[in-house]
Amino acid sequence: MNTPSQRAMVPFISVEAMMQIVHKLGIRTVLRELANEIEADFLRWDSFDKTPRVASHSPVGVIELMPTSDGALYGFKYVNGHPKNMADGLQTVTAFGLLADVATGYPVLLSEMTLLTALRTAAMSALAARHLAPSGAMTMAMIGNGAQSEFQSLAFQEIVGVTDVRLYDIDPAATAKCRRNLEGSGLNVIACTSVEEALEGARIVTTCTADKRASTILTDNMIGPGTHINAVGGDCPGKTELHRDILLRSDIFVEYPEQTRIEGEIQQLPADHAVTELWQVFAGHAPGRRDKSQITLFDSVGFAIEDFSALRYIRRAALETGTYQELDLLADPDDPRDLYGMLHRAR
Ligand code: NAD
Repeated sequence: MNTPSQRAMVPFISVEAMMQIVHKLGIRTVLRELANEIEADFLRWDSFDKTPRVASHSPVGVIELMPTSDGALYGFKYVNGHPKNMADGLQTVTAFGLLADVATGYPVLLSEMTLLTALRTAAMSALAARHLAPSGAMTMAMIGNGAQSEFQSLAFQEIVGVTDVRLYDIDPAATAKCRRNLEGSGLNVIACTSVEEALEGARIVTTCTADKRASTILTDNMIGPGTHINAVGGDCPGKTELHRDILLRSDIFVEYPEQTRIEGEIQQLPADHAVTELWQVFAGHAPGRRDKSQITLFDSVGFAIEDFSALRYIRRAALETGTYQELDLLADPDDPRDLYGMLHRAR
């Protein structure tokens, strides 16, 4: 009889294991290496199957599946977005994901992805800013101080060279939490009481709020020339953060236009409004920032290739450090046609 120890086991990264891996490697190393991993995959853009994510909407949130494959590995992430969860003591965003071997279809990793999503979103934001933010920009306004905010701040410190972060949230408790968590990071953290105050002197602006509707976190008069906007929170139909007039003054950079036109800030614009794909900038096929006065906008929604890169990176780290469990996920009888026999003998 096949005992669990003889069966094909699938590595599983629990939340606990994910935290251990991040601590073993160091969060700054993880953010930097994730950004490099994502950039390398964006540079082989044509190798991937690409599709807008599959979304199931309800009045209170969304549940999404995000698949992609490079022909050798297949990956998907399950992720939700429920802005009202926070009031009930639940996370707005939770996720898990899977990698599989394309040659056999067998899964090779199951992983928690709530933490991994925060890490990869921050790495992606900072990677985009490395190409788009004005040189020498050292102050960032961080609007929305929830679950993603410390990850975003640390990634901008590590990858872009930000030294000062100016926090604002409609809930002062969120700002206090973020400020506390960033103590000892080396960042100069300033808690602000309005968006306008947070924007003072900031040439990078990250918006990362959660609301199940079109909000106007930033209005046109708030954004001066030479700003880079990293708009993270508008990532669903009907859920945006920026006034449309800002978009009309900005050069807009996106992950995958087919998805961003449905979910991003640019859902407010006509479908033929010009945007630049970030992979083209990374590859040197399209310019990033051209001059000091340009407003650049990364209309971030989160794309499947980023999760694929993150899953492959974290699988390597888990196997190298031995930080995973083995999961009996795959029914794999010795005689592949004797699935029933395996069940029968297990009585
Ligand atoms: P969260 O619920 O933990 O935090 C959101 C914060 O925004 C809260 O502290 C809330 O008080 C604050 N907020 C709400 N309205 C505001 C306003 N008008 N002004 C200032 N602050 C306001 O959520 P999170 O996990 O930090 O995620 C934030 C957003 O980012 C969500 O909308 C989520 O869907 C999105 N997200 C995007 C990506 C991506 O790849 N683009 C990835 C992860 C999360």
